[in-house]
Amino acid sequence: MTEEYTEVVVLKRSDLGEKDQLITFYTKETGILRLAYGGGKSFKSSHLGLVQQFNWLDLTYYQGEGLGKIIDVESKYNFTGIKDDFNKLSYGSYILEFYYLTGTPEQNPLYFNHLILSLIKLEGIESDIQYKKLMVIFNTAALSLLGYPFQLAGCDNCRDLKRDINYYFIVDEGKFFCQQCIPGSLNKGLSVNLNKKEVKFLLRSKERGFGADKFPAITENSFNKLNKLLLDFIKYHLDLDFKALSMLNLYR
Ligand SMILES: [Zn+2]
Repeated sequence: MTEEYTEVVVLKRSDLGEKDQLITFYTKETGILRLAYGGGKSFKSSHLGLVQQFNWLDLTYYQGEGLGKIIDVESKYNFTGIKDDFNKLSYGSYILEFYYLTGTPEQNPLYFNHLILSLIKLEGIESDIQYKKLMVIFNTAALSLLGYPFQLAGCDNCRDLKRDINYYFIVDEGKFFCQQCIPGSLNKGLSVNLNKKEVKFLLRSKERGFGADKFPAITENSFNKLNKLLLDFIKYHLDLDFKALSMLNLYR
């Protein structure tokens, strides 16, 4: 057995037999990591309070051939502002579930950083429309960091994104066309009509995530449209069933 160290966020705790628990972390060094938490004397009970959903921790653990074990945890930040607010908790649960379902046991430090930044932004939210903005940026940047096809640099045919004309995002192909290049065979059910500002908002989210400084100002209707587009994209490409989504009010 070797001793390992990494920064983690606790995604989920579930029972493992009668006395033990299985903890799922998203880590900076190794992506998704599942460890056993034994109820025995080997583990200080004061740690139990730290190993809770949303907590950002420094983790030391053993990794042998089977399921590894926690040796020590130290708190970095607990996001109590999320846990103490019903709305923030609902959106936060979606974010953790997204990582739980999409995370792989491979190093992806940018994806880890996106998780931390998303939770920090969520904790600081003060108005309802900011939840819709957060979800557009969260989903767009997460999909991009996971490598899903998201061609947003310009019309897929003429490469233009300058003129104030309509653009059409094609959900199944993950790219868009301007109104002059739109293919005749377009599947209307899987395409979304976007204006230039909406496309630019997606593009900024994709390139820099929450680190972007100049997002174009778009209306609540635009956020609703983009959130629906992203959830349709996630449904089509990821085929995952998010329990936390039913709690959210994203495009109504
Ligand atoms: Zn075009």
